[in-house]
Amino acid sequence: MTTIVNTSAGLSSTPAAGLPSNAVSVRGLDKVYGGKTPKHALVAVDLDIPRGSLFGLLGPNGAGKSTLINILAQLVNKTAGTVRIWDLDLDRQPRDAAAAIGVVPQELNVDPFFTPRELLDLQAGLFGVPKRERRTLDILATVGLADKAEAYARTLSGGMKRRLMVAKAMVHNPPVLVLDEPTAGVDIELRQQLWAHVRALNAAGTTVLLTTHYLEEAEELCDRIAIINHGKVIACDTTAALLQRLDNKELVFILAGDLAAVPESLRRYGAELPSPRRLVLRYAPSRVSAGEILAAVQASGLQVADMTTLEADLEDVFLQLTRGAHVGEGAAAGASGPKR
Ligand code: ADP
Ligand code: MG
Repeated sequence: MTTIVNTSAGLSSTPAAGLPSNAVSVRGLDKVYGGKTPKHALVAVDLDIPRGSLFGLLGPNGAGKSTLINILAQLVNKTAGTVRIWDLDLDRQPRDAAAAIGVVPQELNVDPFFTPRELLDLQAGLFGVPKRERRTLDILATVGLADKAEAYARTLSGGMKRRLMVAKAMVHNPPVLVLDEPTAGVDIELRQQLWAHVRALNAAGTTVLLTTHYLEEAEELCDRIAIINHGKVIACDTTAALLQRLDNKELVFILAGDLAAVPESLRRYGAELPSPRRLVLRYAPSRVSAGEILAAVQASGLQVADMTTLEADLEDVFLQLTRGAHVGEGAAAGASGPKR
């Protein structure tokens, strides 16, 4: 197997000769799981992941994220379409394509009787990394596990195991790192640590693709986001542009007394009165400040008992992006189904 050197390091922002512009490129990707009731898990997916990006694949449970990741990792066979990883065709150069990518699967499968050092050495052996080129302890240090090199994996916490999986995916120094739901079930402190690791890897030149069903996570971490639902990519843009499209918030005022009608002065904020003591105002934060709305409500003389704000969440995102379009069969977008 050819060893693919991570030539992208430090070059992510400069157009470098010989390096692909897209780390991953997918065209017309289809996946149908067989069985009694065949499941069309991916439907004609086109996706480009630019080299150097920190790319988020965002979608609810069952959207097809893991299916896509597992096809890239060659753990699942695609039904149709083409996949190129680091410009290597998955069908024609499967071994080279595998060498260009490191995948951290959603499920933690750490052998409990090995130490982290042994696990990484084993993995390096599998990828044919010569002994003198192995950087086992460096990699463990990168993920904050240097002092756990000789500990049995079964004694590691869930967060440490997750980081060990990241280390395992990095032993062959792939230019593309894929993380499937890296922070699912990870507590807040560890989530911050993992995010910091991911950011550092990306800053050092590694293209990172991660999946998540948290809008907030994609928003905070990723420079580009693709949204997938029912196996279809329904949006793909820079994070900033995507959030722009979701530019709306709601301010909900609970009133101290009953109101018969929306005051004239608040109509321009799209005010609605779903009940006599509940006034809802919708606005685009990029154009109107919450302060302006608060001032308008005060000026109208209303007695406010309480207020809350609502931001677009993943469910709203899907509703907005798929409005008018056929959303597909099954559960409503955003609903979380049982894990397989
Ligand atoms: P996600 O990772 O976004 O939660 P998955 O890719 O795991 O979604 O699943 C997409 C769809 O394909 C779901 O409806 C799931 O039930 C189905 N699916 C996933 N793996 C299999 C499998 N091995 N056999 C049959 N159906 C599957
Ligand atoms: Mg998944």
